[in-house]
Amino acid sequence: MHGKERVIGPALMGVLPLSGFTAIPNADTDQFGAFSGEVQRTLDPLTTCIQKAKHGSEVSGLDLVIASEGSFGPYPPAPFIPCNEEILVLYDAQDDTFFQHKHLSLETVFGGERCSSLSEVMTFAERMKFPEHHLVLRAKEKWEPGDAVHKGIADRERLRALSGTLLVDRGSCWVETDMRAMGNLTRMRVIAETAERLAQELLNSCPACGECWFRITEALPGLPCELCGWPTQSVRAYRRSCRSCGYVSEVPRPDGKATEEPGHCQHCNP
Ligand SMILES: [Zn+2]
Ligand SMILES: [Zn+2]
Repeated sequence: MHGKERVIGPALMGVLPLSGFTAIPNADTDQFGAFSGEVQRTLDPLTTCIQKAKHGSEVSGLDLVIASEGSFGPYPPAPFIPCNEEILVLYDAQDDTFFQHKHLSLETVFGGERCSSLSEVMTFAERMKFPEHHLVLRAKEKWEPGDAVHKGIADRERLRALSGTLLVDRGSCWVETDMRAMGNLTRMRVIAETAERLAQELLNSCPACGECWFRITEALPGLPCELCGWPTQSVRAYRRSCRSCGYVSEVPRPDGKATEEPGHCQHCNP
């Protein structure tokens, strides 16, 4: 519904012998939750994404379907930084199996604010890289039945007119970033990265049995401090596992980082 096939399709086509890709025209994925608050997501992101992929397969009759699910919120280790988690699920209906990949990015344009004047609205919009990043307007932060939701606001005239009306009628308004991928270039880029990573993970085959998707199943902490050698909470290595034969192996960090700065060490910087 939001044009994500433009970045997901080419990433998978580049590495897998697929004959083509298409967006499923009559899939309604908003029923599983919408960012603007009218439909709450009731399941966890991965389960939601799996349901979307299954729904896509049911309505289209296709047996390889990919679905995406994004979440936004504070970055757990540093809650003042916003982050974006993207999940992609590839569903193989013939075998009833799922291949998923989760990617966390600190590159995100995400926020919301209660405004009581037009200048507050415009200042917030500026900070959220508007109009390249679209906005949503409603009366209050928490949507209530009967309240209008204005989505996909992409020009200053419309933002001024709609927020002006709300300010007059309700005294204040809630303005936030529209997180649907087609209205948020930064999110679209994170989805593209996630698709590339999923494609690479799918290509990775098990050294023991040759099955595809010899994927990362665990991040192992304990990267030593460069000053004292104490094991920190930072990732030291990853564990890859085979879903078919159960073979497991430990692989180093892809960035080659072998030590952590003392600032992250519980021993040097308690
Ligand atoms: Zn294997
Ligand atoms: Zn240390």
